[in-house]
Amino acid sequence: MPLPRTPSFRLDGKRALVTGGSRGIGLGCAVALAEAGAHVIVAARSAAQVQATVDEMAQAGFSAEALVLDVTDIAAVQAAVAELAPIDILVNSAGLARHSPALETTPEDFDAVAAINIKAAYFLAQTVARQMVGRGGSIIQISSQMAHVGGIDRAVYCGTKHAVEGMTKAMAIEWGPEQIRVNTICPTFILTELTKPTFDDPEKREWIASKIKLPRVGQVEDIMGACLFLASDASALVTGTSLLVDGGWTAG
Ligand code: NAP
Repeated sequence: MPLPRTPSFRLDGKRALVTGGSRGIGLGCAVALAEAGAHVIVAARSAAQVQATVDEMAQAGFSAEALVLDVTDIAAVQAAVAELAPIDILVNSAGLARHSPALETTPEDFDAVAAINIKAAYFLAQTVARQMVGRGGSIIQISSQMAHVGGIDRAVYCGTKHAVEGMTKAMAIEWGPEQIRVNTICPTFILTELTKPTFDDPEKREWIASKIKLPRVGQVEDIMGACLFLASDASALVTGTSLLVDGGWTAG
C-alpha cells in the first residue's frame, strides 16, 4: 500500500492579500506566505510604510506589491479588490485596540474599535469571498486570545474579537460548499506597536506573566507557522475554527 503523503505547505502560484501587512503580526504573515512561494499584496494606510515593506521583501527575493488601503472604507475595499487579480488567501491583520475600564468607555472609542475589528473584518471577508466563489480559497482573520476570555480594561476589544469568532463560524458554514475556508488565529500578547502601551504598564506586565504558561510573551515569528498552516493545503479540512497561539493562556 502506498504511504500517505503530507499535504503541501507550499503556496507557489497563489496570490495573498494581507491587510495590516506593513508591520507587526501582518508583516510576519506576509513574509511567511511569500517565503512559501505566494505573491503577496501588502495593504495598510501608510503609503510610505507599505512601500518600505514591499521594497524590503523584494530585496529578500520575495514577490510582493503595495496596496494603500483603509479597510474601514468599505467602498474603497470593494473597489481595490475588484482591481486585483483573483486572491487565493486573505489574511486580515488590520486591527485596533483602545483600552479603558468598562465604566469609562466612550462611544467614540467603541465605534472606532468596532469599525475596524468587526465591520471592516466582515466586509473584507465578504468582498474577497465573492471573488473566491467557484475557485475556493482561505480566509484568515487575526482575532485574539481575547476572543475566548475576558481581560482587564478590554471589554470593547474582547467584544469585537468574540464577534470575529462568531462571523467566522457562520461564514464557514455558508461558504464551505464553495471550498472557501474561514478561520481565525488567536494570538496571546505579541510584542508590537499595538501592545506597547500594555507592556509599558507594570501592573499589566505582571498580569500577563501570571497568565501565560510558557515563560515568555509572543513574538511575530510565533504567528508565522500558524498562518502558513491555515493558508496551505496542510489545513485543507480545517474551517470555522480558531487556532490559539496563546502560550497556554486560555488553558486555565
Ligand atoms: P500593529 O503593529 O499596530 O499593526 C497594525 C497594522 O494594521 C499596520 O500595518 C497598520 O498600518 C494596519 N492598519 C491599522 N489600521 C488600518 C486600517 N484602518 N486600514 C488598513 N490597515 C490598517 O498591530 P499588531 O499588533 O500587528 O496587530 C494586528 C492584529 O492582531 C490586530 O487585529 C490585533 O487586534 C491582533 N492581535 C494582536 C495581538 C498583539 O499582542 N500584538 C494579540 C492578539 C491579537 P497603518 O497604520 O499604516 O494603516
